[in-house]
Amino acid sequence: MHFTASPVPCSARPIQFDAGLCIGCNRCVNICQVDIMIPNPEKGRPPVVLYPGECYYCGCCVMVCPRENAIRLEHPIMNQARFVPVHQPQEA
Ligand code: SF4
Ligand code: SF4
Repeated sequence: MHFTASPVPCSARPIQFDAGLCIGCNRCVNICQVDIMIPNPEKGRPPVVLYPGECYYCGCCVMVCPRENAIRLEHPIMNQARFVPVHQPQEA
């Protein structure tokens, strides 16, 4: 039986792979609780991210990877923003 699946477009690209470092072990695929990736049909290649918009940036996929820097998270701008207190000028 064959199934087909296509990536669902999203402006966020939460998961980046380094194809030169990834060994295609699929540990990241298996640990993801929201199943945004599937194994690459080509053995030894990085997984395919099908549902990038579903990632909630828990970081489990990065932590479980046995190859340093083979996978990294790219947080959206809203997650990178740091809010700092604004000091209002003192009234005379
Ligand atoms: S950060 Fe979490 S939710 Fe996103 S792909 Fe990795 S394991 Fe899945
Ligand atoms: S866990 Fe790391 S090495 Fe294994 S498939 Fe994912 S990115 Fe590649």
